[in-house]
Amino acid sequence: MRTSWARLAEAISGCAGCPLCESCTQKVPGQGDPSAPLMLIGEGPGEQEDQSGLAFVGPAGQLLTRMLEAIQLPRERVYICNIVKCRPPNNRTPLPEEAEACAPHLLAQWALVRPRVVLLLGATAVRGVLGENYRITRCRGQWFERRGVPVLATYHPSALLRDPDKKREAWTDLKLVRRMLVELGQYPDLLKEEP
Ligand code: SF4
Repeated sequence: MRTSWARLAEAISGCAGCPLCESCTQKVPGQGDPSAPLMLIGEGPGEQEDQSGLAFVGPAGQLLTRMLEAIQLPRERVYICNIVKCRPPNNRTPLPEEAEACAPHLLAQWALVRPRVVLLLGATAVRGVLGENYRITRCRGQWFERRGVPVLATYHPSALLRDPDKKREAWTDLKLVRRMLVELGQYPDLLKEEP
């Protein structure tokens, strides 16, 4: 039986699939257009996300909003979520077993949104979606296919805040995403001329 958004929200809110639920303030499922052509997947909630219940609202989220606007996509027209839905203590990287425990929620989101393009943000998203042997440094900027959908990886916006030199590569990656969306005929009302 296909899941529904209501059933998924209930499953995430009641989930005790890994120990992260014991230390977080609340679950952060993700948000945005529930049938967005573009789905973004990050790592996990940080402090501000844990407090607000919304994904990507801290400084990294604000940078992400500006990055999307630079390719003419308002944030509310994409869907944004994370590999894990509970904040890891002290913002540590989620453990592989935590990512694995949370994977059914991500797969359900993927099935409901039915994205035409997926953008992975950072190393954890790369390992979680492409596979444990994939490394962001090697595979960013290249197209892969998962579940019949073109998938591209770029740096997590937090990495761009730490190392602004990476922004040039991230901009190249975003333009690739934009080009693929145009090729697939997505967002025709927005994506008219190359920025
Ligand atoms: S991180 Fe995911 S699997 Fe772990 S408790 Fe939270 S929702 Fe469940």
